[in-house]
Amino acid sequence: MKILVINAGSSSLKYQLIDMNGEKVIAKGLCERITIDNGRLTHKANGKEYVFNQDMPTHKEAIELVLKALTDADCGVLKSMSEIDAVGHRMVHGGEDYNTSVIATDEVIKVCRDNIELAPLHNPANIMGIEACRAVMGDVKQVVVFDTAFHATMKPEAFLYGIPYEDYTNYRVRKYGFHGTSHMFVAGQAAEAMGKPIEELKIITCHLGNGSSIAAVECGKSVETSMGFTPLEGLPMGTRSGNIDPAAIEYLMNKHHFTISEMVQYLNKKSGMLGISGTSSDFRDLTEKDAFDNPRNKLAVEIFAYRVKKYIGEYTAAMNGVDAIVFTAGVGENTPYVREMACGSLQCLGVELDDEKNYNCPRGQVVEISKEESYVKVFVIPTNEELVIARETMRLCK
Ligand code: ADP
Repeated sequence: MKILVINAGSSSLKYQLIDMNGEKVIAKGLCERITIDNGRLTHKANGKEYVFNQDMPTHKEAIELVLKALTDADCGVLKSMSEIDAVGHRMVHGGEDYNTSVIATDEVIKVCRDNIELAPLHNPANIMGIEACRAVMGDVKQVVVFDTAFHATMKPEAFLYGIPYEDYTNYRVRKYGFHGTSHMFVAGQAAEAMGKPIEELKIITCHLGNGSSIAAVECGKSVETSMGFTPLEGLPMGTRSGNIDPAAIEYLMNKHHFTISEMVQYLNKKSGMLGISGTSSDFRDLTEKDAFDNPRNKLAVEIFAYRVKKYIGEYTAAMNGVDAIVFTAGVGENTPYVREMACGSLQCLGVELDDEKNYNCPRGQVVEISKEESYVKVFVIPTNEELVIARETMRLCK
């Protein structure tokens, strides 16, 4: 079975074609500047990279170009589009309507549209991806995989905020959580590496990238996560503030003479690592040798790692224990300093990090970086959200 996985953003679209026989990626790529001028598709297949420069006024032209690349005589991997058995789409927000992946029926698309007010930056583009595939690919089966679904198992004491209850019942304000496919995938990988059923384990998964979130996964189910009503809650991130006293927001709006939308933009785009360091949102830029001598760069990374550590403590309490801690995504997989700061001194919880293993961790594989005698196992595990979407699509389309 060959599955096309689509992750559509407002002006970009990532794709992977996966052969489920062996779960191999046959081709992948990225469309950029959709709806803008100077459109560009970068397509990787057969060990080579190909670039198509072509404008894509809408997502429909982007999908057409992706299919053209996939079936091209020179860089293609398919004889015709009909070899694609199904398409799996990432959808950021499923609200409370979906706690699992679903076939993209008219009704499902309508509900996703109703949820646009919960995810105005993401759901519209995800929906455009589905509609573009429908327009170009006709009847091929399509599946929607939600970022929020894995966290649907959180209990009210975890997902409700301390505001009037009616704001939940009337306006759906609650913690939803994101990065669900990643947390689910790496928790499963950790259980496999430990040789134990996930139903017997308490795992804390740290997805640390440009956007970052942490989840407590008890018996295979998410019981807590750090992102909230939107991805702005929780850890300070590349450019997002994470948690802040809400009263400071009005204070800062007055000081900067910001409108509400300017303030929201400030918290989403100008804060986090970028705001603290004053130099970059990118952990590579912040942690390179010379850059790290800049005290503000170092401070930004230390603030981040300290918050990660506090979440590990909080979630250990929430689950009354922890068997494994997992680091994943760009920063989690590649920044040993953050891992050391976050759990190098957590002996009180039974975590014994092995410095040697942590600093010499090979890339792209599941690696245990705790000492053999550590009660809590610590892993670095590459995430693979596309594979989760492909597996979910196969499960529903078989
Ligand atoms: P997202 O998917 O949220 O955009 P990623 O998971 O790709 O983000 O993470 C991006 C972050 O990971 C950036 O801050 C980047 O610097 C960091 N990162 C990625 N690769 C490396 C690397 N090899 N070494 C250090 N940091 C890295």
